[in-house]
Amino acid sequence: MANRNEKGVCHICGELKELSFEHIPPRSAGNNGPSKMYRAADIVETCGAFDSSKTEGVRYQQEQKGTGFRTLCRDCNSYLGRNYVGEYAKCIRELGCMLAKNPPAEGEGGIRLVGKDINALAFFKHVIGNFSATTAAGSMADCRKYLLDRESRDFPGRYRLFMFAVPERGAGMLSTGWATLLLDSGQQDYYTIAAIAAFPVGFFLLDARRSSIAPSGIGCEITAIAALEWGAKPGFAVELPYMSIEKMWPVPIMR
Ligand SMILES: [Zn+2]
Repeated sequence: MANRNEKGVCHICGELKELSFEHIPPRSAGNNGPSKMYRAADIVETCGAFDSSKTEGVRYQQEQKGTGFRTLCRDCNSYLGRNYVGEYAKCIRELGCMLAKNPPAEGEGGIRLVGKDINALAFFKHVIGNFSATTAAGSMADCRKYLLDRESRDFPGRYRLFMFAVPERGAGMLSTGWATLLLDSGQQDYYTIAAIAAFPVGFFLLDARRSSIAPSGIGCEITAIAALEWGAKPGFAVELPYMSIEKMWPVPIMR
């Protein structure tokens, strides 16, 4: 990556600073090869909507050294790196190994992930940091203290986090930014959501304050982890539905 001294508004601390490149997913989780990145706005612009069957012609950014974003300043990036990324990468490698050994079988809609010896709050904060990096600047400014004080348990109540498994290797990296989706129910229901996903895992972040409903089928909710004590390593088990990310928006592989 060329050494560009780009200044911009850091998505976490909100200051105008030189921005540094953050790998998403972490380099230590295998994110170091060529990849394609899409933006939700480009999908909408090209297809007129989130129509997962029409993805041809959508512009993407080719990254040679893994996917990532230049939206955080060096200080925020390194705080996240020091405190959160290791726990996340450890957990993700484990899930990746499980999926590589036991790929989805006929009729299987998901996988049970059992976590132990994981600093669950660090894992959670890593994911929230990634959403801050991949959504519009300032749109998650209320997470600043939560992210920059590792012991803070004051996660803004408007967010809900959902997790799912992405069993396809090589499916690339998907990050959508915020999108407001209307339901075809005739009730004018809508919800505002962002997704980040790559093998072996993905997340939906729901902004409940900008949603009239919480959609179903977007994964296993893990918001409760947000308020755990720093360093606590509770055993946990989550049932993660399998989703495909090959079509620009995560969709369940089986129903
Ligand atoms: Zn910053």
